[in-house]
Amino acid sequence: MKKNIKPRLFINENLTLGGVYTLAPAQAHYLLNVLRLNLHDEVKVFDGKNGEFLAQISAAGKKETQITIREKIREMSFSPDVWLLFAPVKKDKTDLIIAGATELGVSKILPTITRRTICERVKTERFQAQVIEAAEQCRRLDVPEVRPAETLENVLKNWPKDRTLFFMDETGNGQNVLKTFAADKNSASALLVGPEGGFAEEELSLLRKLDFAKAVSLGKRILRAETAALAALACWQACRGDWKI
Ligand code: SAH
Repeated sequence: MKKNIKPRLFINENLTLGGVYTLAPAQAHYLLNVLRLNLHDEVKVFDGKNGEFLAQISAAGKKETQITIREKIREMSFSPDVWLLFAPVKKDKTDLIIAGATELGVSKILPTITRRTICERVKTERFQAQVIEAAEQCRRLDVPEVRPAETLENVLKNWPKDRTLFFMDETGNGQNVLKTFAADKNSASALLVGPEGGFAEEELSLLRKLDFAKAVSLGKRILRAETAALAALACWQACRGDWKI
């Protein structure tokens, strides 16, 4: 492995300069056995709260692997405030949504069970590991929060009214995506994407009655759920988020 490309790890602690941290066994295995790093080699670490640091492997024993924080290399910055609500689909497609949404800077992921959601067993611990891996890879400094799966009805019942819920409406009744995002006055947003089978008619009529919900069209072609989720997020970033000029 080329040692000038430093691996980047998320450490779920409060990292401080000079601090010594014991790595989880999987992280230690990855650094020492997979990447074949040695004592004194450098890695980049972040904790989602305090920015990014350069750290050195300061103990690489059989029992414990430790790192010591040497230098701060990036100040903390948070991703824009946009949530993604999506109906879990098949495993590999859900994986694509989770990793892609993390790369696209989502702040919170809410797996949402709709009438036609096929996959009922939603493994949020798996999603948690995936957001961490994607955050490490894409160099973000924060890790999106993953909520336990909830039904659409419950999500809507407890909705924070100052956050606009843009729902991706494949029936042709939504408004242009960029116009709808730009016209919204709330600073906080959420994007809702339906399952492979689409939203049920009663779900669409419920959503249309809610003041905080806005129907969005992603054009005249019907997209797969995973394409729709990532396209909606990309549009939001370009119009309202950190891609905005
Ligand atoms: N089975 C449905 C399509 C579902 S697509 C049908 O044949 O009509 C899955 C989800 O992606 C939809 O529920 C919607 O949220 C989103 N989506 C797909 N294409 C879209 C479009 N053109 N505009 C808005 N949302 C779209």
